[in-house]
Amino acid sequence: MLESSRKIVIKVGSNTLSDKDGFVNEKFIEELCNQVSQLKQQGKEVIIVSSGAKVAGISTINKWSRKSDINYKQALCAIGQVRLLGSYERCFEQHNIHIGQVLLTRDDFFIDSRVLNIRNTLFTLIDEGVVPIINENDTVCIKELQIGDNDTLAAYTATLWNADTLIILSDIDGLYNKNPKTDKDAKLVELVEDVDSIIKDIEIGEANEFGTGGIKTKLDAAKICNDYEISMILANGKIDNIITKIYNNEIKYTLFKKCN
Ligand code: ADP
Repeated sequence: MLESSRKIVIKVGSNTLSDKDGFVNEKFIEELCNQVSQLKQQGKEVIIVSSGAKVAGISTINKWSRKSDINYKQALCAIGQVRLLGSYERCFEQHNIHIGQVLLTRDDFFIDSRVLNIRNTLFTLIDEGVVPIINENDTVCIKELQIGDNDTLAAYTATLWNADTLIILSDIDGLYNKNPKTDKDAKLVELVEDVDSIIKDIEIGEANEFGTGGIKTKLDAAKICNDYEISMILANGKIDNIITKIYNNEIKYTLFKKCN
């Protein structure tokens, strides 16, 4: 599946980037950079959409983690974004790959002049071998901070770039018929050809402690992608070298693909 994709967007959720204590999982970032480097060696182009600024903010200053006021969350994101990108930069340096920080809001995708500017920046970065790392600009817009955790931002990025595949890494193996965290008998759905109809057949449970969107925003992202004939994979970022395993068909996940 990934073998035939040339342009790949990888979205990393907050749960995936956090360790069990709620701090940034540096080993995960290192592994992700190794795998992206391998993809690039295989001729793929990659954009990363990374959440985790708030988690990184808490890791940096070790306070305000329990504050629910949105201004504190924004402040944590502003602090954490620097740390997060610093981690990506250090890991990609090992592979002689430069990164470019791109901060966007969902509204940007609906304003023609901004779309043109975003497109120009992204295409130039990618043409020059740089890996763009996108996150929401939480200072000017708090939508993704409240709901979504970048799932839809990643889907809009995939459409704007005409990606072949969006990979969303979360802390579950894919879409289940029930919330796998609360129902032990939940079954993995391996292929979804029609997002609208699957929504009627599954139970949508709560998101996790560090996550915000839950499965609902992942289904929204799948719908956006599939409408543009872009495939979406939902897979478990907690599994070591998950992208390589997807590439080698060694692992189960959910593929959202509209088949004509
Ligand atoms: P992330 O931070 O990775 O974006 P979220 O916590 O926002 O992750 O969303 C993933 C969570 O959604 C899972 O850990 C799971 O507990 C929950 N969930 C609820 N219903 C389902 C379902 N039907 N299938 C899969 N996951 C579900």
